[in-house]
Amino acid sequence: MPDATLLTKLEHVIAANWTRQIAWLQELVRFPSVRGQEGPCQDWIAREFAGRGWSVDRYTLDEVALDHLPGFSPVMDTDYSRAVQVVATLRAPKPTGRSLILQGHVDVVPTGPVDMWTYPPFDPVVRDGWLYGRGSHDMKQGVSAMVFALDALRDAGVAPAGDVYIETVTEEECTGNGALSTLARGYRADACLIPEPTGHVITRVHVGVMWFRLRIRGVPVHVMMAQSGSNAILSAFAIIQQLQALTAKLNVAAKSHPMFAEITDPIKFNPGVIKGGDWGSSTPSWCEVDCRIGVLEGTSLEIARQQVLDAVACAAKADPFLSNNPPEVIWNGFQADGYHLKPGTDAEAVLAQAHQQVYGTPLEARNSTAVNDTRFYGLYYGIPALCYGPGGVGAHAFDERANLEELQRNTLAIAVFIADWCGTVSLD
Ligand code: ZN
Repeated sequence: MPDATLLTKLEHVIAANWTRQIAWLQELVRFPSVRGQEGPCQDWIAREFAGRGWSVDRYTLDEVALDHLPGFSPVMDTDYSRAVQVVATLRAPKPTGRSLILQGHVDVVPTGPVDMWTYPPFDPVVRDGWLYGRGSHDMKQGVSAMVFALDALRDAGVAPAGDVYIETVTEEECTGNGALSTLARGYRADACLIPEPTGHVITRVHVGVMWFRLRIRGVPVHVMMAQSGSNAILSAFAIIQQLQALTAKLNVAAKSHPMFAEITDPIKFNPGVIKGGDWGSSTPSWCEVDCRIGVLEGTSLEIARQQVLDAVACAAKADPFLSNNPPEVIWNGFQADGYHLKPGTDAEAVLAQAHQQVYGTPLEARNSTAVNDTRFYGLYYGIPALCYGPGGVGAHAFDERANLEELQRNTLAIAVFIADWCGTVSLD
């Protein structure tokens, strides 16, 4: 536990750096780092890290062999030579403390119609204590917190006594392959902290998530004789209804899950993108639907995939054309296991103590119906991984925003956590 003097010092330097931290976060939000376009954002971050004297490893996902590793998610139509990842190392001169990975993602989801935002999504506005913009909340504010927590330690005259890796990854919103690549590249530590915008609670368990594409065929005829054709869009509709029925069934079963019994309908199914057809007066001969479905923690993805295949087959069987032309199910994107951070790790105890010191309340836990990158560390590499960060509103929504007062306090909690976990050495 850091002495009260260090805590006070950290509080002061975080306040002193505050204007700079907000400007830094605004700069970060200004990059429209949607999938495939994260490069300029990551290049800027790499320069920022190098400017702090950290050694920087900048690479792209096509440079790293991933597809043989547990947790890998397959992708289509994605150019991994543009998927830039950044890992900076802040090496302890004589390491006496524990090492730490701080990881955040800089990929953001699409904005939807910009005219439905109060402020332009990539032109961050600060108003009434909130910073608006796509990614401001999820999770560029968390990235600013981990960077400015380290700045605070430096400005308070100390360095972590263990090696710290500061990682900004992509693909968190669709595969997790960015996080996986850092592990494939050999980065390891005694613990990992991912400051996703949890609103200063820890994520105890998260569901798994699978993405798949439905590829459905139809028979094009003039719509005046539609009965002799087969409408791929209406077929997609029937399949979606069957998948909704599957989801309802899974949510009944979830009522007896030890971690999700208290949450209403923890399994979410979402048809997220639909494309199909070529002409208003022809029955559409094709339709593609990109879907996302949750998987209860503890259920294997193999079983979950079979449940999806069975539901699609069941819908197809009820249709004369589809029964002979079965729809394809293409696993494209997230094949993500659920993850349960078991209580009792040293890392969590240290975080709980830091949180208590800064917030004055015990650290609370939540169970999440969405996925995050901690699973890679916890499930496949034996590294305790904590998902804990600042708060805000509007992840994936219009008018996404970060709460600045909360961000400042959370930056302090993270700084105290780093100091407690790694120990500190004086820079004098
Ligand atoms: Zn996120």
